[in-house]
Amino acid sequence: MGKVAIIGAGVAGSAAAIRFAQRGARVTLFERAVFPREKVCGCCLGAAGLAALDAIGVGQSIRERGVPTTFFHGFFQTTEKEPKNTESVAAAGEFVRGVRVPIQEGSALSRADLDQHLLSLAVQAGVEVRQPCEATIVSESGEKVLVDTGCKSLEEFDLVVVASGLTGRFRQRDAADLHWVETPNGPMGLSAHVSESDASKVGWHLDPGEIQMHCGGDGYVGIVRLPNGDLDIAAAIHPRRKSTSDVAGGRQGIQQQILALLLGSGLFNSAQSQQLGHWFTEVAQWQTTPPLRRRRLSGRGRIVAIGDAAGYVEPLTGEGMTWGIEGGLAVADLWALYRLQQMTPNGGADFGANWELRATKFQTRRRQLCRWVTGMVRYRPARWLACHGLRRAHWLATPFTRSLANGPRFDTTSTIHRTASSFADASLRTHVSS
Ligand SMILES: Cc1cc2nc3c(=O)[nH]c(=O)nc-3n(C[C@H](O)[C@H](O)[C@H](O)COP(=O)(O)OP(=O)(O)OC[C@H]3O[C@@H](n4cnc5c(N)ncnc54)[C@H](O)[C@@H]3O)c2cc1C
Repeated sequence: MGKVAIIGAGVAGSAAAIRFAQRGARVTLFERAVFPREKVCGCCLGAAGLAALDAIGVGQSIRERGVPTTFFHGFFQTTEKEPKNTESVAAAGEFVRGVRVPIQEGSALSRADLDQHLLSLAVQAGVEVRQPCEATIVSESGEKVLVDTGCKSLEEFDLVVVASGLTGRFRQRDAADLHWVETPNGPMGLSAHVSESDASKVGWHLDPGEIQMHCGGDGYVGIVRLPNGDLDIAAAIHPRRKSTSDVAGGRQGIQQQILALLLGSGLFNSAQSQQLGHWFTEVAQWQTTPPLRRRRLSGRGRIVAIGDAAGYVEPLTGEGMTWGIEGGLAVADLWALYRLQQMTPNGGADFGANWELRATKFQTRRRQLCRWVTGMVRYRPARWLACHGLRRAHWLATPFTRSLANGPRFDTTSTIHRTASSFADASLRTHVSS
């Protein structure tokens, strides 16, 4: 299966590394950060993501580390004017209602813990990990890719999988090979952890299994309880300011937008609102992302991209990690298939182009669905409808929640089995099927 380099040990990179190793490749995984590290994330791994991890034999150990999530508790701002300060909270609270929608069981755990644990499972699967090490692609020639593996040492690989997330650099210079199909735009992501004691000071209560969501015209905020009792708060917000070049000012503006969304829920009385305002400005340690919406060409030649490095899926639906994990599994399976086809007289076509084709076919509909849902909830009439409709009949959301729990799925594993069974050589057939 050759020598494979994976750039980035987030969920996508580690899941891919495990699958490649299981398929028999020699895998080197590069990670520039020292773990454990936090990152901007809502920390909710959906049922589909857990099922994908089950496919590589690690789902159960992740479930054991996390806390189960079983329902969305949605707050939709339906007021004409959103509250700007703590005084207008009570008025806003009259108009905003909580809606509970059951979901198939997922798991909540901090990204520091999840990513470190997945990385240790990759090591157990036989993956060589280099960390901290910022890897960059130097050149691609024929069937080899030259990678600068840090400290000025160069190494050749048969395939490079870019799993470097939203902010990773994987090229020494911006190259045309994996160019943007959609340049970064849209909402920005922010997240922070509220300690258990701060949450109780503010009177912030979450029921077991709850994923709290606050949706308004500016975007949305999700809150979940982590295994250590802290709350993870993550938001995707459309900045109101025209320019975000003043980073501090831009970030503070977005924090105020998040605060307004939370206060608008009517969950907090006036004293608690002041406590929350104090926490926002004086205590919270926010992490931010660049604009989230984006998509790049996900493959060319022997370089392919997966997870956030390939493009972003709107986080309202909590699908981002699932896409990354599924993509990691699928690209490893497709590579196994490709290497098999290379043994046949017809050989294999351009691997990267094949991956791009599959990724596009697989992602387009779901990407549109996620974007449609997140776009709709920005409009007040749609929020009003969602709020009132779901309060009366939460089952209206079932087709959507069921589709999230069932997908996304690539079909590469079954294709491998079909290809394997078409081989005349019985020993090869057995090897491939296993
Ligand atoms: C506000 C918000 C809330 C979200 N909530 C959820 C949620 O609840 N559920 C969900 O499923 N998804 C959620 N997501 C999406 C999710 O966080 C991402 O989709 C997911 O983390 C993508 O994983 P990844 O492995 O592609 O990238 P990452 O997790 O970002 O990992 C990339 C890794 O690559 C490393 N790296 C980068 N460049 C290099 C280099 N050159 N060399 C070596 N290493 C490198 C980085 O250090 C990093 O560790 C949310 C996102 C946002 C912004």
